[in-house]
Amino acid sequence: MDANDCIFCKIVSGQIPAAVVFQDEVVFAFLDIGPVSDGHTLVVPKEHIDKFDRASPQLLGQVASRLAKIAAAIQKATGCEGYNILCNNGRAAGQVVNHLHFHIIPRKTGDGVIDRWPAYKYPAGAAEKIADKIRKCL
Ligand code: 5GP
Ligand code: ZN
Repeated sequence: MDANDCIFCKIVSGQIPAAVVFQDEVVFAFLDIGPVSDGHTLVVPKEHIDKFDRASPQLLGQVASRLAKIAAAIQKATGCEGYNILCNNGRAAGQVVNHLHFHIIPRKTGDGVIDRWPAYKYPAGAAEKIADKIRKCL
């Protein structure tokens, strides 16, 4: 999927309507059409980039500063107790729209949103091996 048939590029350019929360020269922020809580917002860079690791460090810095500002406003507006910032990358990770985006999800204690976290323990020695493998790829 390229910028021409990208639903988020169409939202950024105004071809598809959205409930806009914020925009400037770097990002466009709008309410998710399928919210998991009131105020669930998507923040996207205006430039079409498919995944987190394809964005430049400079852009990521610019996006992060907007995320902080928008998250603070969402907390104030919704009275949420906390929030998640979520960025799905790749189909296996739940990315459906191939334009980099960050979900800001307002949370309340016991709301049941994202309540499955299937944590487990590494067998002896496995953590060191995986950490070493990752270090070698940096
Ligand atoms: P993903 O699973 O790719 O991280 O999330 C994509 C999100 O985009 C979903 O939560 C979905 O509800 C939202 N979405 C998809 N199409 C539209 C749309 O046309 N308008 C808005 N506002 N949100 C959309
Ligand atoms: Zn796009």
